[in-house]
Amino acid sequence: MPTITLKLELYKPIKFKQAMYERMTQINTKFANWLLLHPDVNKATSKIFKEFSDEKFPSAIINQTIRDVKSQKKHQQARAFRKMWCSFNNQNLKVEKNGDFYTVSFPMLEKRIGVPVVARSYQQQWLDRIIDGMAKQGTAKLYKKKRKWFIALPITFDVEASQGEKVMGIDLGLRYLAVASIGTKSLFFKGNQCAYIRRRYAAKRRKLGKAKKLDAIRKSKNKEARWMKDHNHKISRQIVNFAVSNGVGIIRMEDLTDIRNRAKSKKEAGRNLHSWSFYQLKEMIRYKAEMAGIRVEIVNPEYTSQTCKCGYREKANRSGIRFKCKQCGYTIHADLNGAINIAKAISGLVA
Ligand SMILES: [Zn+2]
Repeated sequence: MPTITLKLELYKPIKFKQAMYERMTQINTKFANWLLLHPDVNKATSKIFKEFSDEKFPSAIINQTIRDVKSQKKHQQARAFRKMWCSFNNQNLKVEKNGDFYTVSFPMLEKRIGVPVVARSYQQQWLDRIIDGMAKQGTAKLYKKKRKWFIALPITFDVEASQGEKVMGIDLGLRYLAVASIGTKSLFFKGNQCAYIRRRYAAKRRKLGKAKKLDAIRKSKNKEARWMKDHNHKISRQIVNFAVSNGVGIIRMEDLTDIRNRAKSKKEAGRNLHSWSFYQLKEMIRYKAEMAGIRVEIVNPEYTSQTCKCGYREKANRSGIRFKCKQCGYTIHADLNGAINIAKAISGLVA
């Protein structure tokens, strides 16, 4: 069952509400850090909050925070929480529609409140499905980003599995952001436009840096990120449409865990490679594919770029965008060869 997360901006919250959200986040964070060091954390129920404070605080949020602290403790990840946003499970956060407006309601300090959200057109269809019971909502989170308040609402839904039998491999890289292959057909997305845009933004920021215009630098970074996100949306949409129209049932992509190590040099990695944008592209392909009923599998990236169709493997087989087998002489575009090998999962699927 695919999951996507809707990020719903709260519509113009008044100062009083903003201050309340802020204060609740503070209390919740303090409580989480207090609980983390509590000897009986594993047996904790919502009653434990009374030990922490006399203040009235919604038990729905307390229960969710206890759950999060327990799970972090179990995985031994947390030293301290920088922020513990208030979370609400599907029993406590309700989505409703009043006329043309969508509202969400959840328990707050004094009482339960309902607030309007800014629902973009692509979000409305998902909100409608939640209201109609066609999609299930997960645990929602009230958080602040760039002075705005949002509700992050994960939703899961059923889709009919694709009947397609073909397997598509996708190679992600620098020179070509993405090369997708279905045996005889392929799709290429060159990276040079991105590289150009990034160089332009970087040059502009160097100038701003010399002039110490920090605010303008931050704005420029945001603008670049928005451009990249938009670009990734377009690429992922084209790839998934291509997959659907060619009867693909499975998409395979590489595990990107160590994509940074694959740049030619540190300098190249720093200048050209925003690893987050690869994760973003991969994530967009994943959820768009899953929404189309296509299964997504992750392949171990080792050797996918060095192996020939004859089975011979050597690092020297690949040189830049050219692949030439040292054994049989077979030549092919190196990233296309990568995509074909990923489709075959030649170095195995990641668990
Ligand atoms: Zn060969």
